[in-house]
Amino acid sequence: MIEKFKPTWMVNSIYRVSPEQLKAQGIRTVFSDLDNTLIAWNNPNGTQELRDWMMSLKAAGIPLIVISNNSHRRVERAVAPLNLPFVSRALKPMSFGITRARMRLGLEKDEVVMVGDQLLTDVAAANTAGVRSILVRPLVASDQWNTKFNRIMEKQVKRALRNNYPALTWQEELND
Ligand SMILES: [Mg+2]
Repeated sequence: MIEKFKPTWMVNSIYRVSPEQLKAQGIRTVFSDLDNTLIAWNNPNGTQELRDWMMSLKAAGIPLIVISNNSHRRVERAVAPLNLPFVSRALKPMSFGITRARMRLGLEKDEVVMVGDQLLTDVAAANTAGVRSILVRPLVASDQWNTKFNRIMEKQVKRALRNNYPALTWQEELND
């Protein structure tokens, strides 16, 4: 049960994950959650660090595609400053959004990675879709969590992961 929520990697900052590290893992396209992974409510245009990272991916020919549960309108507006392609209404933790995007691009499961800040949606969706995942720390602590319940659940899942997979720890890079 708990393996459904197990990320492939836990990385302190996605900005430290370089195109070279991704390529070394055979990853050709990066899928990412939007809210609190790429942008935060208090910085809707994204940071300079994010822009630099996006530029490095672009220069390396690695597309970055947003996979969000939000509505088309909401995601379209949110990604506008970043100029990123996106899939809305992805239905995470189900696999539809990830699989739809992957099929459209003609990519194999091991050629994509899903980045996100939530085990219960982003990582679970990646696992359901059979693709690797990178858990990142939420950009801000006071996030968009809808309910207290989600927050408590996430904490419990994290604790269970720690107990079951002691080797799974926060790392600086994919290859640590
Ligand atoms: Mg998020």
